Amino acid sequence: MIVGVLVEITNRNVDKIFDYIVPKNLENDIKVGIRVSVPFGRMTLEGFVMEIKSSSELDDLKEIIDIVDKDVVLNDELLELGKIIRDKTLATLMSCYQTMLPKALKAKKNSTINIRYDTYYSLGDVTGKFNDNQLKIIDLVKEKGKVIKKELVDISLSSLNTLVRKGVLVEEKVEHYRVDYKEEKRDIKKLTPDQESCVNSVINGSDKAYLLYGVTGSGKTEVYMEIIDYYLSLGKTSIVLVPEISLTPQMINRFQVRFGNKIAAIHSALSDGEKYDEWRRIYRGEASIVIGARSAIFAPLDNLGVIIVDEEHSDSYKQSDPSPRYSAKEIALIRGETNHAPVVFGSATPSLEAMARAKKGVFKLLELPNRINGKKLPEVEIVDMNKSLGKSRGYFSPSLIESISNCLERKEQVILLLNRRGYASFVSCKNCGYTFKCPNCDITLTYHKSSNTLRCHYCGYGGKVYSKCPECGEASLSNLGVGTQKIEEELSKIFPDSKIVRMDFDTTSKKGMHEKIIESFKNHEYDILLGTQMVSKGLDFADVTLVGVINADTSLNIPDFRSAENTFSLLDQVAGRSGRSSKEGKVIIQTFNPDHYAINLVKNHNYLAFYEEEMNIRRKLKYPPFYYLCNIRISGKDTNYLLVEANKIKRSLERNLTSTIILGPSNASIFKMNNIFRYNILLKYKSDDYLIPLLNKILEHYKTNSKVKIDIDFNPSQIL
Ligand code: ADP
Ligand code: ZN
Repeated sequence: MIVGVLVEITNRNVDKIFDYIVPKNLENDIKVGIRVSVPFGRMTLEGFVMEIKSSSELDDLKEIIDIVDKDVVLNDELLELGKIIRDKTLATLMSCYQTMLPKALKAKKNSTINIRYDTYYSLGDVTGKFNDNQLKIIDLVKEKGKVIKKELVDISLSSLNTLVRKGVLVEEKVEHYRVDYKEEKRDIKKLTPDQESCVNSVINGSDKAYLLYGVTGSGKTEVYMEIIDYYLSLGKTSIVLVPEISLTPQMINRFQVRFGNKIAAIHSALSDGEKYDEWRRIYRGEASIVIGARSAIFAPLDNLGVIIVDEEHSDSYKQSDPSPRYSAKEIALIRGETNHAPVVFGSATPSLEAMARAKKGVFKLLELPNRINGKKLPEVEIVDMNKSLGKSRGYFSPSLIESISNCLERKEQVILLLNRRGYASFVSCKNCGYTFKCPNCDITLTYHKSSNTLRCHYCGYGGKVYSKCPECGEASLSNLGVGTQKIEEELSKIFPDSKIVRMDFDTTSKKGMHEKIIESFKNHEYDILLGTQMVSKGLDFADVTLVGVINADTSLNIPDFRSAENTFSLLDQVAGRSGRSSKEGKVIIQTFNPDHYAINLVKNHNYLAFYEEEMNIRRKLKYPPFYYLCNIRISGKDTNYLLVEANKIKRSLERNLTSTIILGPSNASIFKMNNIFRYNILLKYKSDDYLIPLLNKILEHYKTNSKVKIDIDFNPSQIL
């Protein structure tokens, strides 16, 4: 027996299948998709069995060393999917498979993530004389049938050991999952006619994909759950993708209340061991509803009934780094097609790509135009900060201050958003304009107040803060950016009696803190929740009647063609946190660009007007969804050499592609990162049959050139 094995190296040079002989004693356990260890040069490597055959074209084959685990880690569907992703992203096949598996199962030696076991005891041959403790133990086991080790150790460890040695007790190891789910309560809401018609469209429909466009608080999540329940009743499984940022305990809890331990929730707060346990529960069919961020699209579920992609506009569905640079939305469509399972994309602010497809009929459009129970969307006031200057107290306009104080008086709650997208606290000199930059990367250092240091968020470089400007020598350095800490300080001066809780990267980095903050805010232990983007999605608090946006503009200034879209959706989403229950909500947006359409149109929650306006711009500038984009990054240490090679690549593209627009090579917006220089060539195209073969040729050409690294990113979420 011969097997073709893909080994654990992700280098392009060895990204192919190598043949090995299977020793007779292992033949019975060999299956496609399991992990084996093999000799490779002088090393021992792990790899996946890709094929089983009776002969090889090569002689002189080596034998595989062992089977790593008897279970198949990559089933037929996932094996095939890996190849599709390789073809679509031009990544190595091994990197595609590595991305699909939890860390514990990646083909990699010395993985330290284990299965956890509990030890249980039951009765064996009860003969002989026993002392008091031994009798106590025997009685307990007799009564319960099976007892966990700890309970018996509590009586007496030495007695336990003696009984086991004599065969009176029999030991058994049982796998112990590190994550627990409570029993389901099947709390099912009676759906509104609108919700019902959305559900019926999906479960009775024949379309491959749906776009559920429903305003914030319109009951989309209930629609998802009802659809899932239907497929569950047919014995089918579901995947629910949500952005990591909205994978909040609140969201998971809603699914858990309804579906109990049928769910497996995969999120970044889980340890690698917990993720491995969840993977095994899914693999064994013990969980049939998987909720998770991007990578949950690879959940090894059989019998898939439906795939839901919530907040489909989120850019977190695209993996930018490392390779494979895949889109979980695209993979959802592929898995949906393979399994004949519909894919439901949902959002209050759909991506332009999704809405354009819906308007063309590629996706079936479903709408929930109203909030549940006819509640109004919150009233939005746009405050022009140009006019408020001088009247404001720090970052707070008179209007926002008044609204907060009214809200507090009514004993209701406030959410405040500090928009930190594309924004950093940095130190600069007021005299000469000098800013501190990272010596390794071409980027401004961020000021960290708690340690009073300047840090690079790309390479981790840290430096101390000077009192004088190193350029002009003046002592006029100032901290220009503003963080949530600073805002919190100001806020507590204006409202000394209010209780404020902060939710940002710092306060949620410790495990369980995110959950704790949300829980205590819900319990009214705080009046004001102040945070970054984390507060904009997925939260549902009945008493929040005011949402304030401190700075709407920062995300508009990012040099990216999606900045208006991202700004509109961020603002409309955070606005949607206000007035979700019986009380009416209000939203105040502070901005220096009150007339910009991405801000202006939030006033009436006018997504469709925004869509039209933005589509016009995209059409004119030849951006998605009218054109596809592909970014080719050329990086290395020697800029002169790189530029020569980048220009060669450009000429080769120009010679071979007729309808593709080729821009660059230009400096990446962070030109130097970790002492590596980066150039971009950006392609815009509608369809080009020659593109993929040509890019493959370019990758092939440079794969042995250590001075040039080529990275390809189709449909990049950002071009940096
Ligand atoms: P979305 O996901 O569109 O923002 P949700 O599903 O979170 O909306 O619904 C908003 C609120 O309305 C939630 O508190 C939810 O429990 C409630 N809700 C949703 N559907 C119904 C219904 N049919 N009857 C009563 N309450 C509902
Ligand atoms: Zn750096």
